[in-house]
Amino acid sequence: MNAEATSRVLDRIDGLRDELVAALADAIAIRSVNPTYPDQDYDDLVGGESEVAGLLAGLYREAGAETELFGEAPGRDNVVGVLRGSGGGRSLIFNGHVDVVPADDPAQWTHPPFTAYVDGTHVWGRGSVDMKGGLIAQAFAAKALRQAGVRLRGDLVLQGVAGEENLEHHMGTSAVLERGFTAEGAIIAEPTGALSPLTVMPATPGVLIMRISVTGRSAHAAMRARMRAEPADDPVAASAIDAALRIHDALRRLEDEWVEGRVDPLFEKGQFTIGLDVIDGGARGSRNVAFIPDETTLDYAIFYPPAAQLSEIQSEIVQTVAGVAKRDPWLRANPPRIDWPMHYPGGRTDRDHPFTRMVCLARERATLDTPFAGAPDVRPFPSATDLTWFTAAGIPAVGLGPGALTMAHSVDERCAIDELVCAARTYAVAAIEWCGAE
Ligand SMILES: [Zn+2]
Repeated sequence: MNAEATSRVLDRIDGLRDELVAALADAIAIRSVNPTYPDQDYDDLVGGESEVAGLLAGLYREAGAETELFGEAPGRDNVVGVLRGSGGGRSLIFNGHVDVVPADDPAQWTHPPFTAYVDGTHVWGRGSVDMKGGLIAQAFAAKALRQAGVRLRGDLVLQGVAGEENLEHHMGTSAVLERGFTAEGAIIAEPTGALSPLTVMPATPGVLIMRISVTGRSAHAAMRARMRAEPADDPVAASAIDAALRIHDALRRLEDEWVEGRVDPLFEKGQFTIGLDVIDGGARGSRNVAFIPDETTLDYAIFYPPAAQLSEIQSEIVQTVAGVAKRDPWLRANPPRIDWPMHYPGGRTDRDHPFTRMVCLARERATLDTPFAGAPDVRPFPSATDLTWFTAAGIPAVGLGPGALTMAHSVDERCAIDELVCAARTYAVAAIEWCGAE
């Protein structure tokens, strides 16, 4: 029964190709830039997310779903569509975010970022890849099921959430789950094109932001010779930059140790890192080479294994910093301060989990006789995603969506139409396989 239903639905999706592209173009034309994204004008942008949610609600209704729009802030709606199953099957979530990142300088774009441009092979525009393409493909998978007369046994829950681009899961995916829209598996339509398109991504690393603040003692720059000759805990001067770099050296060695010491079978070796991304330092009074610097901050982005405990990662880092301070007279007397401004836990679903295996199989079946044929690549997301909140709620989840990861957030973002269609095909096959069909 499934094979026959599957081929009917896949035919329908191919027939809906132009309609899918047109719907994506409509979605891109809505400037749903996350209004709380850094350096954005909230009042100017708020409302775009609700508009996209409204567009999706229309598509979900065409698929026969009951829909609900609700938000944690005015103009920032989430949308959920529930396609009720006939009973006796497993339920499934299709999830994606309706917000996008800013387009930066529109003049750099070949085509204006919020006027979807369609050529023979691609849909261009902000959000074509991240991730209106995936959201629209999910909606069209549901629509094709309906048009092909395939009724699922389990419920299919379609989710379009606000706020993801600024990590506001509390008003997006977490709010939707808390409202009771859960299921027994979730496919997140983030773009997963990596080494090959439509990669299956069953894990997301933990992300931790750390700031280390080091103080020194300022003096005329010419005091450096005396400072070097007289290391002491009460010196004539102490360079906060020198001290900060001693700490950074130790953290770099720890990062090297992580290559062998912090591993996860879903990740390649060396994917867990302690990266120094911003340095700010100098003399408090005057950022000027005439002074020995008395303050320095180091900002790190740390990617750690999703199965590791946050406290364990933090304490390893704190001990490494403390080890440097213990051996250093100035730092012993003036201990560096460590703050953790942001944390986003990771999540994972085993490669051998029945849900991951089902999605791999669905992708393989859906792409037969297409340029994407073959067993899918399986690898983790490189960064934070909503996958975290599904696995934290006990819901197996994987990412799979159209578009290359390198296109996300970039100028001239564009998505291959063949990939959009193959993503929709994969979602439909996954729904039939997981939920069952009659
Ligand atoms: Zn995204």
